[in-house]
Amino acid sequence: PRFHVDGAVVPASEATVSVRDRGFRYGDAAFETLRTYAGDVFEWAAHADRLRATCDLLSIDHGLSDSELRRRIDETLVANDLDDAYVRLSISRGVQPGKLTPQPDVTPTVVVEVDALPRGGLEGESVWDGPATLQTVKTQRVPDRAIPARAKTHNYLNGILARLELRIDGPDGPETTADEALLLDADGAVTEGATSNVFFVDDRALHTPSLDGPVLPGITRSVVLDLAREERIPVNEGRYTPDDLRSADEVFLTNTTWELRPVSKVDGIEVGGGPVTPLLSKLFDARVEGEYY
Ligand code: PLP
Repeated sequence: PRFHVDGAVVPASEATVSVRDRGFRYGDAAFETLRTYAGDVFEWAAHADRLRATCDLLSIDHGLSDSELRRRIDETLVANDLDDAYVRLSISRGVQPGKLTPQPDVTPTVVVEVDALPRGGLEGESVWDGPATLQTVKTQRVPDRAIPARAKTHNYLNGILARLELRIDGPDGPETTADEALLLDADGAVTEGATSNVFFVDDRALHTPSLDGPVLPGITRSVVLDLAREERIPVNEGRYTPDDLRSADEVFLTNTTWELRPVSKVDGIEVGGGPVTPLLSKLFDARVEGEYY
């Protein structure tokens, strides 16, 4: 593969960043995970907006326009001859003297990584193998007093700790007790997965934790809410407990690469299937098909 580093496309083996880069030293960086369908970035404007919001929160004034960032993504896709792809765009504050306090002069390190992805949706193959199992963990998604959950920064230690909680020793090495970790807030309310937003369906109404809580505003989350509203499915954004999920008719997760991923178990308790997840999945697929192919 070929990646984009600081303005140039280079072989992945030569795509390196300085050990003095603040992204490496402090996690002082923002990123977006995107995907393309038929060579076109899904919901580019929404991703560009979220990235700008994250950079504003961190005061990373990288000086690159949305169209310049998009140009670098497109250049990387062309260099790898990819149409249906995973894309990661990272922007760190760059190399600065060894002081924690950021200096005003930002020399951003901008990296674009890409990889092939299956087409997804009902017609294609999914990224995931089967429905997910979901498990509540002790690691918390904290409210906005520290690193705001709404910012997609390189500080993913919280998510890593959550995923590590799922790891157990098996006979042939480490195994996981569930596919995704479910993080609660300090009051025990459901927030989201380590890399996904969570939804559940009860009596045909769709529920997802509100963005008032410590939740990343997922691009897929927002598309799914749109589709549900268009379909006149009752939608509620609120505060929920893990029990609400365990007793729900349907539970599913969303993120850019998974799209909609059904959940088969929450904390070991089977979740029944129902019509709403496949319906929303079909509508999502139709929207991708209509807009990108
Ligand atoms: N929540 C977290 C913590 C994430 O890391 C992600 C994506 O990686 C999501 C939610 C889903 O966001 P999106 O739909 O924009 O991929």
